[in-house]
Amino acid sequence: MLAGRRNLLVILGDQLGHCAGKRIDRLDPETDCVWMAEVREESSHVWSHKSRIALFLSAMRHFRLALDSAGIPVCYHSLEMHSYTSIGSILEADLKRYCPHTVSMIRAGDLRVQQGIEQAVAKAGLVLEVHEDPTFLVDTESFSDWISQRKQPRMEHFYRWMRKRTGYLMQDGEPVGGQWNFDRSNRNSFGHEGPGLLPAPPSFQPDQITREVIDLVEKEFPDHPGSLASFDWPVTPEDAQIALEDFIQYRLPAFGPFQDAMWTDEPFLNHSLLSPALNLKLLDPRDVLDAAVNAWRSRGAPLESVEGFVRQILGWREYIRGIYFTQTPGYIRQNALGAQQPLPDFFWTGDTDMYCLRQVIQQTLETGYAHHIQRLMITGLFCLLLGVRPRAVHAWYLAVYVDAVEWVELPNTLGMSQYADGGLLASKPYVASGRYINRMSNYCKQCRYEPSQATGENACPYTTLYWDFLDRHRERFARHPRTALQWKHLEKIDADTLRSIRAKASMIRKSCAV
Ligand code: FAD
Ligand code: SF4
Repeated sequence: MLAGRRNLLVILGDQLGHCAGKRIDRLDPETDCVWMAEVREESSHVWSHKSRIALFLSAMRHFRLALDSAGIPVCYHSLEMHSYTSIGSILEADLKRYCPHTVSMIRAGDLRVQQGIEQAVAKAGLVLEVHEDPTFLVDTESFSDWISQRKQPRMEHFYRWMRKRTGYLMQDGEPVGGQWNFDRSNRNSFGHEGPGLLPAPPSFQPDQITREVIDLVEKEFPDHPGSLASFDWPVTPEDAQIALEDFIQYRLPAFGPFQDAMWTDEPFLNHSLLSPALNLKLLDPRDVLDAAVNAWRSRGAPLESVEGFVRQILGWREYIRGIYFTQTPGYIRQNALGAQQPLPDFFWTGDTDMYCLRQVIQQTLETGYAHHIQRLMITGLFCLLLGVRPRAVHAWYLAVYVDAVEWVELPNTLGMSQYADGGLLASKPYVASGRYINRMSNYCKQCRYEPSQATGENACPYTTLYWDFLDRHRERFARHPRTALQWKHLEKIDADTLRSIRAKASMIRKSCAV
């Protein structure tokens, strides 16, 4: 396929559909060719959930088929057909062998991959043309300008700037409904009665291609975490569109009020489950935003829910990406709180008596999914309170979620969840005790621990570690205007209790390190 081709367009596994569309339209089938490769390194540089591997491989193979049907020449390397480990090494071999004139690509969402490709192309004596990813609503240059003008580049300011720039949910220069956010209405728990009957998200049963990929993953990556038994993620733009429409119709109306709530054996609740399709670019975020806003305009979806959802895509998603590209490569080495504890082994099995953690880890291993608050306030919070080395936490998050791509995973983990960037992204550490988990879920009802207790046999490890965290980081936060109030509560704890908390926290740390 490559022989005689003058121009190569490299397309990566998270650049399918909408991302590559315009570049592909410009290809001349006589002289140009799309180049794609499945490589082991993308599944093994950190341990990778089997569903994550299957999602990427299946979506890539479906995309290749769509290109074939459209008459676009594709040079495609399937994992089982070659022994190269990295994308750089296989590209380098092809460039040496076939000597094309030009190589172009859309900027990779992972610096390591970008550098590998740049090196391969440079070794071949060629210049790599790198294009911006057109699916994002703000380009990295504009984000750099925005961030360079701010001392504290908070998401809320960015989000308002984006609303004004794009006009989403704006009228005559003002936010519709007279408010930028509806957070007050959007932080509910389900109460004693629970979420009631929830609309099940659509299931995309594996077709022939996906089944072959599942067999391949089981054969090639047998020891990797996670299960493929319930794999039913959308792997084509058509399936992703169905997933979007289903969310807009059935779950968006209740998305806002309950977006922070959790409930036993209900992994999805009213969440959209669109992150894998968005991150692989099977969906364009503009289409997702338009669909949500139209649901408010013409189908009566509540503004609170629509704004809450728009904020996630137009605000958080774009902001996080901007942080990644403006702060890497140094960002990954940050460890502002000096955390050095290893990641507990039970993060790979869910084998713990802390019910909330068991629920979330087991659900993650089974499905490759957890919603935002489960990631931030169950697994992330535990690591932060325990003091786990941020890089180890990063490796876990990159490994276990189907939607994990470094540009979105790294700032969320290091910045938002672990405060490792010293407050660039989050104005204060997201710390809470077991009481928060008790308020937002029914997990504690089934747990052997007592969320309100910090000491004693039944003390909730979150609550013990919470007070211990405040104590350990007193110097840093007790006088800071954003955190002083939270730290003030520490003063009410008497010296004996504090000693017991420290001793208990140390025991938890020791038991989590074996
Ligand atoms: P919904 O709750 O339905 O939200 C809608 C969409 O908004 C999501 O699909 C996503 O595209 C976007 N979104 C929401 N929150 C964020 C956010 N904080 N950052 C970026 N986009 C956001 N998201 C990933 O896509 N990949 C990751 O690897 C990832 N790692 C994370 C690690 C940690 C520690 C934390 C706290 C969050 C992480 N997130 C990640 C963000 C968020 O948790 C997921 O995007 C979301 O849970 C995906 O589920 P959903 O599609 O049902 O989202
Ligand atoms: Fe989690 Fe503590 Fe509640 Fe148990 S009591 S579920 S450990 S928060």
